[in-house]
Amino acid sequence: MKQTVSQGLSGSLSFNEQGFRKDFNLGVYSMALDLGLQKIGTWSPATKFVSVHARPAAQGHGLDDYEPRDVNSSMLTITSILTAPFLMRKAPKSGEPPLMGKNKYEGYSMDLATELAQEVGFDFDIQLVKDGNFGSRDPINNTWNGIMGELISGEADLAVAPLTITAERERYVDFSKHFMDLGVTIMIKKPASQRPGVFSFMEPLSVHVWICIIIAYITVSVGLFLVSPNYHNDFSIVNSFWFSMGALMFQGSDNCPRSVSGRIIGGAWWFFVLISISSYTANLAAFLTVERMVTPIDSADDLVNHPTIKYGALKSGSTLQFFTHSEVPVYRQMGKYMKSHPEVLVETNEEGIERVLQSKGRYAFLAESPLVDYRNNRLPCDTMSVGGNLNNKGFGIATPRNSRLRDPVNVAVLKLKEEGTLYTLYQKWWVEKGQCGAMQGNKARCRCHSVTWPVCSTFSLWVWCCLFFLA
Ligand code: GLU
Repeated sequence: MKQTVSQGLSGSLSFNEQGFRKDFNLGVYSMALDLGLQKIGTWSPATKFVSVHARPAAQGHGLDDYEPRDVNSSMLTITSILTAPFLMRKAPKSGEPPLMGKNKYEGYSMDLATELAQEVGFDFDIQLVKDGNFGSRDPINNTWNGIMGELISGEADLAVAPLTITAERERYVDFSKHFMDLGVTIMIKKPASQRPGVFSFMEPLSVHVWICIIIAYITVSVGLFLVSPNYHNDFSIVNSFWFSMGALMFQGSDNCPRSVSGRIIGGAWWFFVLISISSYTANLAAFLTVERMVTPIDSADDLVNHPTIKYGALKSGSTLQFFTHSEVPVYRQMGKYMKSHPEVLVETNEEGIERVLQSKGRYAFLAESPLVDYRNNRLPCDTMSVGGNLNNKGFGIATPRNSRLRDPVNVAVLKLKEEGTLYTLYQKWWVEKGQCGAMQGNKARCRCHSVTWPVCSTFSLWVWCCLFFLA
């Protein structure tokens, strides 16, 4: 065997003294679901691993021609995007000189970048993304815009922004583990709260229950009349009705059944009254103190089938991508609608929120939950989210492919997560900055004044009854 030399797929098939193969060349392949099998390099005993341009080399920056900057020697450029509460312009305090450099900004991303800089050991400057986009790929010439484009072209060393980790982006840049979990949600304008009406005292129980109570009342009264012996004449039909009514109102009446059968019916009725009136009272308290809002939509299905509410998302973001590529028919339908009606798409999150506020409930904005939660809890407290999260994803710190920052940043993110720093930052920017009560964006508000309505209506009903009988 050691003597033979022949040609195989991986070069010459020859063996050394110890019987190991020598002078051969192996192909190294990468396999991804959407890309298939791609050759990424070769391996031979002499040269070891040598890479080829196998990853998509967008805009001329593939794996090989990217020169990572020296993490320790240079000031790093962090690209980010203005979107509250991640990055906002800071107003200088009165009398102070104008703010310079990264001091011009504040927000969750700014704090996160500072923490990362401390952990990893670098200095940085913030550079706002020039075109104001997060990043979407132009399929025709395979170029990216926004933050993604700046990372790929080497204009920035790091992206600290609410940048969503997606499979498509992961092929062009490296993401850290996610620093925030989120989902896409539907943001709508809060509907006007319902004013309590004259008959709102009936709301705690449904119509069916009221009908059943009336039927039970009649049946018990007639039953009592039928089973009571007539020799005292105290259980005439009128008195039977009066007895049941007294029990129903927790008041009692002057005559009580004395026969065994009458007492059984009476006892059973009291028990029934005890349970029903207790639940009525408990519900009534909740109905009177909590502001009730009837939302026009409750889910993505409602939104798709709604005749008048339009909906849209960010033009160059992962949310639109999610809807257009989703396998769920409803989401796909939404994606198709948005693609074919570009007028519903917006350039920035702020524009989308403004549209929700201005459109009198006829526009819903599909956006990411951290942004929506923040806005729901800010003045004018006029927006809310419905339907919960439509998917699960995360924001990650992005670095250009093969950057030396990738691993230290990844470890730093995990460390900040484990130490609870990320939790503290969330509390700082979402909970403490809330202006609508502690995270009450889409919950109920007290409306104690509304108790007057049912009280007034029952009182006037009573006055009218008195007047009627007096007349
Ligand atoms: N975070 C998203 C992104 O990375 C942008 C916001 C959105 O699409 O709703 O593209």
